Amino acid sequence: MPTTWERLANDSILDLRPYEPGKPTGEVERELGVAGAVKLASNENPFPPTAAVREALQAALDGLNRYPDGSARALRQALAKKHDVPADGIVVGNGSNELIELVARTFVRAGEEVVLPHPSFIVYPSIVQSVGGIRVVVPLREHRLDLAAMARAITPLTKLVFVANPNNPTGTIVTAVEVDDFLRHVPERVIVVFDEAYYDFAAGPDFPDTVAHLRQGRRVVVLRTFSKMAGLAGLRVGYALADPECAALVNRIRQPFNVNTLAQVAAAAALRDEAHLQASVEAVRDGVRTLAEGFERLGIRHVPTRANFVLIEVPDARRVYDELLRRGVIVRPMASYGLDQALRVTVGSAEENARLLAALAGVLGRNGGGS
Ligand code: PMP
Repeated sequence: MPTTWERLANDSILDLRPYEPGKPTGEVERELGVAGAVKLASNENPFPPTAAVREALQAALDGLNRYPDGSARALRQALAKKHDVPADGIVVGNGSNELIELVARTFVRAGEEVVLPHPSFIVYPSIVQSVGGIRVVVPLREHRLDLAAMARAITPLTKLVFVANPNNPTGTIVTAVEVDDFLRHVPERVIVVFDEAYYDFAAGPDFPDTVAHLRQGRRVVVLRTFSKMAGLAGLRVGYALADPECAALVNRIRQPFNVNTLAQVAAAAALRDEAHLQASVEAVRDGVRTLAEGFERLGIRHVPTRANFVLIEVPDARRVYDELLRRGVIVRPMASYGLDQALRVTVGSAEENARLLAALAGVLGRNGGGS
């Protein structure tokens, strides 16, 4: 009898589940016969790319018969200037997701431990497992990363610690004071990856300056992305700020052309478009306030967020999710994060936020009591 594919596969991947992306609007419209569905499921920016980004993309089309610049020189230089770090300490990736993977593949040996918060970004445990690492999972405390417990979880086998800040799916942050204290308890040889995908929404005087820790020679890697505030999720571009020696090692396994030409030029154009970036942040913060007020009116408990999404508590979350879908509103069920009584909703445009609140009021049979 011929052998199965499963028996041929790498043991370390066998109990992994594929990542479940948020449902696309087209699929919901087709399957459920609703029109004008809105997607608030993937923590995207509700605003389409600006004219400056479109013009940069248009101008780059003629060169698409050529490979991209494999070193992403122009983009890395712009980022180096923005962050005041050397360009050879920057690695760009196909989304920051690729950098999570590259850092793990570069440093984690089979049998070494990686300390992870839970619930947090679902990609960390699957990457650790796929490289043969051991997941050391530290539960959140009151929806926040428990940095003290994460420091205590470090053993002589620990290679890396992931700190998602703000954390997905809770939207909570760990503060500058907490991070300083945490780093005092982390041995010098352990790498701390600060995953700051939602940095721009959270920035403020209490938010840690992890790039300063990097400049001071701490063994940290800081991950940022153009998917969220810059609104370029569809192009896939993120970056790591790291020690140049660390970056050189990651570059050894990076695909030569991992970030495509259009992604590179769009990201560089978005960086120059300060006004739009600021407007995105303002719109999201307004949206957070509107949603928080709406949830309160509806009696829905929610975790105060510093990101562009909100974790809400609802009984029978699967049913609420399905009924919202039938009303054309796509949110994210949290069962795969181990949260059966919760949904994660992304902050959308003003119209999308209103649509979500009205749909929730309908599904839960509650009167929002407001406008
Ligand atoms: N980190 C966190 C915490 C995230 O939530 C996400 C996206 N959902 C990513 C990283 C990856 O984002 P991207 O690959 O689009 O940069």
